[in-house]
Parts: sequence; C-alpha cells; structure tokens
Amino acid sequence: MQIISSQERQVYPIIFPTSYGSVGTINFYIINDGKLLTLIDAGINHEGCWDYFNLVLAEQGYKVADIDRIILTHHHEDHVGLLKRILAVKNIPIYAHPIAISRLAMDADFFHMRYQFFNELYAEMDCLQDAQPRLEKLSKTLKELDERKIMADYIPIQEGDFVGGLEVIETPGHSPDSISLFDRERQWLFTGDLVLKESSTNAIIDPDQNGVRLKSVVQQRQSLTKCAEIDVLLVFPGHRSIIENHKQLINQKLESMNRKAERMLALLAKQSQTASSLAKQYYKSKYNTEFSLVMSEIIGYLDYLEGNQLVIKEKIDGVWIYSLAQQVQEEAIPEG
Ligand SMILES: [Zn+2]
Repeated sequence: MQIISSQERQVYPIIFPTSYGSVGTINFYIINDGKLLTLIDAGINHEGCWDYFNLVLAEQGYKVADIDRIILTHHHEDHVGLLKRILAVKNIPIYAHPIAISRLAMDADFFHMRYQFFNELYAEMDCLQDAQPRLEKLSKTLKELDERKIMADYIPIQEGDFVGGLEVIETPGHSPDSISLFDRERQWLFTGDLVLKESSTNAIIDPDQNGVRLKSVVQQRQSLTKCAEIDVLLVFPGHRSIIENHKQLINQKLESMNRKAERMLALLAKQSQTASSLAKQYYKSKYNTEFSLVMSEIIGYLDYLEGNQLVIKEKIDGVWIYSLAQQVQEEAIPEG
C-alpha cells in the first residue's frame, strides 16, 4: 500500500479491487492527522472489503475501534457499505450532506415520494413497461426501509463547512448529495465519484426533497468546472487511480460530454421523438441491460439541451416529445 504523506498528515488509501459495476476498484481513505483518524467513505458491504480495510489499518498499527469519525462523499451503496459493521464496533459520528442523511436514514416519506416520482417520470418518457424491473426494485426498497436504514449520529455538513481541516465543497450531479473535501494546505481534494480516471461517471436523475427533478447533467458540468478551477496536487477519487492532472482530465470529460450532446442533437435532427426512443437509438442493447443508468443519461442530457434552448419538448397524450429548437434547425440549413 502506498502511503501519501505531507506536513504532519498521512493518507492511507484503501483501494479494493472489485467486479462491482465497471468501476474497477472501490476506494476509501484513512486520514491520520496525528491526533484523530478520519475515514472518508466506507467501502462496499463485502467480506473481502471488510478484511482488506482491517488489514490496511493493522499495517499502520490501528484497529477499527481507533477510527474517530467518518465523512461521506455521497450516499451510494459502494461508499457506505461498511458503515453498519464499523458502527457495531464503535459508535462514531458520521458527517454527511443533509440530503445523504435522509437517504441513509431511509426516511419513509421521502422514499414513497421518490417511488411516485419515478412512476410518473417513466410514464412521461413513454417507457413505463420497460421500467417494470426498476420499479419493482424501488417497491422492494419501500418494504425494506427498516432493515436497510443506517441509524447513526449524523452531523450535517454543507458548502463552506470544515471538518478536521477539510473544507466541504458541494459537487452535485453524480448524486444530489455529492461533496468534495478540500485540504487547502496540502492541496489535496477528495472527490467521491465526481471525476474518475479510467471510468466514466454518470449524472444520475433523482428528485430533490420536494419531488422536483434535478438537472443532473447541468449540475455535473458545473461541479466539474468548479473543481477544475481549484489548484490541486492530488485528487483522491472514489474509484480507480489517484489523479495528478485533474484540470486536463476534467477538460477531457467536459469535451466528451459536449460530443455526446452533439450526437443526441444529430439524432433529434433526423426525427422528433420520446426520451426512451432516443435512448434505444443511442445506447442500443444497453437500454435493456442498464435501463436505469441509460434513461438517467438521456433525460439528464435532454434537460441540459433544453436549458440551453437547443431542444424543445411538447406533451402529447401524456408523453414528452423532444425536438430540435427552431433556431437550431434554421442554423443547420446551409446558406446560399
Ligand atoms: Zn461510487
């Protein structure tokens, strides 16, 4: 294991190889500032991950009971997996964004609203039938709220707050609760799933607390730009390798997002259509195998293009039909 050390502070990365999704590794980090041990994220709920976490601690002469606090970059299962096991050893405070806290505590009102939100969304996008497996999963979650909830001493943190010398920077898009943690002195940035080196990261559609759809691709682009403006020596991501040249990597990601948006515009130029029809054309068989992610991407991009007045939508018989905006069509006509 490679230890990263600077001015009285050490980071012990826990880089756990996994076949989960296509993320390659699950990364979480122990920070030792000489007084306290802070854990950033908590891996995946997997025996091997738990053993590896204990091994990395033992190599430094520590055990789970020595951890003083946990900070979460977001609430996804591959970042909070070991929380229950850790809390069973020792009840320590968990710092997280308020949106993450209501999700980890499995707030019943919120999850019922969210189930309704996706039912309506998939109906409007003309894919209610194809969405049945996803909706069944969401409905199963509703029956398991009690066993799934993680009760803990949560401490809400938001933009500008500090925990142990780490500044909270809100970076939503991948999820509405995504934050990055900035050690200004050492120019280290812990980014969760904002930007990954050898993998893409998705902007995932979700409602806010009031059931309003968040513009995830718009948020993701703003968060990437915000992160690129910070001078950083090392970016510690939630998966894959530690990143040294984050500005260059983020520019590449933004450019590839631009190309994706252009390809979608080109498909809409051929024919006005629903989001699900666009998803089938763009993603082919992935539409069935990764339905939820694929629809998230398409809807996120359509919201982004609509916000930039490149796309308009019209509701016909309860279903949104997306078209190229008039001005784009006119510009596309060659002059002379
Ligand atoms: Zn992740």
